Amino acid sequence: MIITLMGAPGSGKGTQGRSLASSLGVPYLASGDLIRRAMADRSRWGEQVRSFIERGLYVPDEDIVPVFLQALIASNHHAGRIGGVLDGFPRTTEQALALDRALSELSVSAEQLALVLDVPEDVLIARLSGRWLCSGCNASYNVQSHPPIMGGVCDVCGRALMQRVDDRRDTIQERLLVYAASTRPVIDFYTARGSLRHVNGDEPELKVREGLLNAVRRAVPVSR
Ligand SMILES: [Zn+2]
Repeated sequence: MIITLMGAPGSGKGTQGRSLASSLGVPYLASGDLIRRAMADRSRWGEQVRSFIERGLYVPDEDIVPVFLQALIASNHHAGRIGGVLDGFPRTTEQALALDRALSELSVSAEQLALVLDVPEDVLIARLSGRWLCSGCNASYNVQSHPPIMGGVCDVCGRALMQRVDDRRDTIQERLLVYAASTRPVIDFYTARGSLRHVNGDEPELKVREGLLNAVRRAVPVSR
């Protein structure tokens, strides 16, 4: 089964996606990781991707779609079935349609399920604005869930903690708006198809994990 996991910044999507993938025994494929890997290997495609990222633009559909497909196929070649937890893809309905087309061209079984981690906006804002990073070793902290022993100082190396520009309160609201607007069409797309499930993300990590697994188990897979 191919699971597309969606969730706002601060929803815990990355952590949950990794753990869901390992529980199901399928690969976790995140667009950020794939893009970083491509940029690091200095391939022609990597250079092309770099030129978009460096300009602060999204990588175009025609470049990102084949990368996900390749990653899906490469990590499932032995199984005869295809599966994975996708994070950050499909990001648009065009990408969702391209994924459909590509899957129907492959002679493998590939049911699709879309999961959305629901977390109220005030909780997201509190989570995101509580993030602090060490300026020395990059260790991360959260004033609510994982505070440093001494305020503003790294437990590991003793240097000062700082906030990413992204995690400052004034930019968070903006990030959440952008997320909601850009995800809406994809959510509508999978809802119309009957393959979208909502999972409560405003619970302790283990409960959320259980909720995601239950949603997968209960899902009536839609084959394409
Ligand atoms: Zn440190």
